[in-house]
Amino acid sequence: MEKASCLLCPRGTEAKLHIRTHSGGYPFSYLKCQECGLVFLSPRPDGKEALQFYPQDYYGENPRKFRSGLEALRLFFAWNRMRRVRKFFASSGKALDIGCGEGTFLRLLQKEGWECHGSELTAESASRASRLGIPVSVGPIDEQRFPPHSFDLITLWQVLEHLPEPMKTLATATHLLKKGGILAISTPNIESLQAKVGKSRWFHLDPPRHLYLYSPRTLEQIMGSFGFRLQKLRHFSLEQNPYGWVQTLLNLMGLPENGLYTILKNMPARRRPTLSRYQQAKNLLLAAGLLLPCILLSLKTALLKKGDTFEAYFSLESLEV
Ligand SMILES: [Zn+2]
Repeated sequence: MEKASCLLCPRGTEAKLHIRTHSGGYPFSYLKCQECGLVFLSPRPDGKEALQFYPQDYYGENPRKFRSGLEALRLFFAWNRMRRVRKFFASSGKALDIGCGEGTFLRLLQKEGWECHGSELTAESASRASRLGIPVSVGPIDEQRFPPHSFDLITLWQVLEHLPEPMKTLATATHLLKKGGILAISTPNIESLQAKVGKSRWFHLDPPRHLYLYSPRTLEQIMGSFGFRLQKLRHFSLEQNPYGWVQTLLNLMGLPENGLYTILKNMPARRRPTLSRYQQAKNLLLAAGLLLPCILLSLKTALLKKGDTFEAYFSLESLEV
């Protein structure tokens, strides 16, 4: 285990216990920096310890992550995201998706004439996107691999919160982006109503894999230090937020932690936790009843600018920072 500290403030800045939680039988604590409000897991698993919390099929050794009906929905969400991104550009360009998963987003962008590159942490996960004909580098993103300031777009979809050294990755992304290029980030919002209601049972807390929990304010501060300016902030995500509410409420009702997610995920049978038929039916029936109220709740929190996850688009204003 290793201690973590705030990314924005000097070492020694006071951080107080924010959420006490557990995962896999281990206790974990999230601390909140009293100066800037950034929340981080400390102490946290280091190196090989961290890997034990990512089962081999966490991101899917299966090419499909979810059961087939939901795969179509996931494709629809990725297509919508691609359309939102495209609005920032007059023509196609060159894109890098850090933590590209099975490459769905890049494949859609490629069809629009973009030159696409991806990165994944392990060779197994990289092979899934490679199968679609997208070049994927393995391991942390390396700035030597590409010419400096050669990308028009770099994306980090639900990735930044997993990174033990996010400042290193953001520095590399800054080095690889063209001036005026766009860096798009989506991540859970620790200042959201969902986080406040869910506390240790919040679906997007995901200990100990989520190492830093941002808010629009802390992320904008971090990105400003690299020379970026916020162009657009979205508080509504049909892809992430209503489901986050459903699962958080089921967790708070005392159902098996993230049980619905386990049922919906296309996990290999050997890893599927044993949920009785009764528990499965209870999860699915309650979820069906909660879905519409949760969509409305997500719309409401978005209007209040307290989105449960948020999507931020930053443009690189200066290469000198
Ligand atoms: Zn701080």
